[in-house]
Amino acid sequence: MSKTKILKKINCICGGKLKKNIDFGKVPVINDFKKKKTKKYPTVVSQCSKCLLIQLKYSAKDAVVYPRNYSYLSGDSSEKLEDYKDLISKITKKFKIKDPSIIDIGGNDGSLMSIAKKKGYKTTNVEPTNVSKISRNKGINTIKKEFNLKLAKKLNNRKKFNFVVSTNFFAHTNNLNNIIKGVNNILDEKGILIVEVQYLYNVLNENGFDSFHQDHKYYYSLNSIKNILKVFNLSIFDVEFLKKQKEIVRVYVDKNIKSESIRLKRILKKENDKNVFLKIKRLNYFRKNHILKLKKFISNLSLQNKTVSAISASPRGCVLLNSCNFTKSDIKIVGEVSGSFKINKLVPGTNIPIKDEKILISQQPDYILILAWHLKNRLIKILIKNGYKGKFIVPLPNLKIL
Ligand SMILES: [Zn+2]
Repeated sequence: MSKTKILKKINCICGGKLKKNIDFGKVPVINDFKKKKTKKYPTVVSQCSKCLLIQLKYSAKDAVVYPRNYSYLSGDSSEKLEDYKDLISKITKKFKIKDPSIIDIGGNDGSLMSIAKKKGYKTTNVEPTNVSKISRNKGINTIKKEFNLKLAKKLNNRKKFNFVVSTNFFAHTNNLNNIIKGVNNILDEKGILIVEVQYLYNVLNENGFDSFHQDHKYYYSLNSIKNILKVFNLSIFDVEFLKKQKEIVRVYVDKNIKSESIRLKRILKKENDKNVFLKIKRLNYFRKNHILKLKKFISNLSLQNKTVSAISASPRGCVLLNSCNFTKSDIKIVGEVSGSFKINKLVPGTNIPIKDEKILISQQPDYILILAWHLKNRLIKILIKNGYKGKFIVPLPNLKIL
């Protein structure tokens, strides 16, 4: 591994020190879909001694995690689209701004902005990768650049924005400090910043060790996100959990200190970030035991000449397959939605091929491992409807055979 591709963090962006570490093992970059086996990176989790934010100690550079040919499309996920619709309809009703303007930072293929545009918003999407082309084709004002303070100052020549949205970057960048400064710069004095992040306590409650990887640099509680924003003179005033992607929390942020909503106060009080490091340690013990259990289960199946394939080459799936060191002799193929760019490539870090999910129906493996286990109900329903007759393995929160 080239050393220049990895950053070692000593301090948190709040200035606090990162002290204790928990080693979650080596995992590849989860979006690195190639025809050959890809590299793995250390996943070491640490906590800031000051703001208590959980974060990665060693971090692959953004250019490695998000190559220009990065092809994840928000529009591919029906759950995401539903939550986007919900967001736009909520802010339209709640804030009642005349001729509102909105900017999505790292807005991917423009799925969110195109919903906002239909509701009469003036829309801008800042997206550095090639998917920006799709956003532009939807008629969205799209800037194919990395968002930072410098770009913010350029954008600022025009009117400031009523809404700044980040459904992506808050957990995912090495450049958070600079980005939040940029957000502060383009946000109207009365404007609202909306941030969506995976909620750490939900991850812990679901034994979600497969959420720890290079794509997630930060793991937020509401207290830690509040502490980080405070460094930049921003404050949270409300919170809600998403309807479809239940593990994600949406926070509403303001430049002027407003009173905190009752539901926000309630969650802030319930959290205990001083104790959370211990909980992550426990999750890591669970991870080690669970990997052994899964490996034993799969190798027993192969002793009985049973075939096992999997569905959905999702980020979680990539972490799980790598944690178990599974190869194509354990898991024959991973099925993906027809037309996905991942088809005919390998699951990052492994030699397991990704194929059109129709093959799962024609090959009828004895077992299908549900890698996107948080979507298990929908996936199982579709597979049965399409004619799959075998059994399902749900790997988490606990191993289940259906
Ligand atoms: Zn900190």
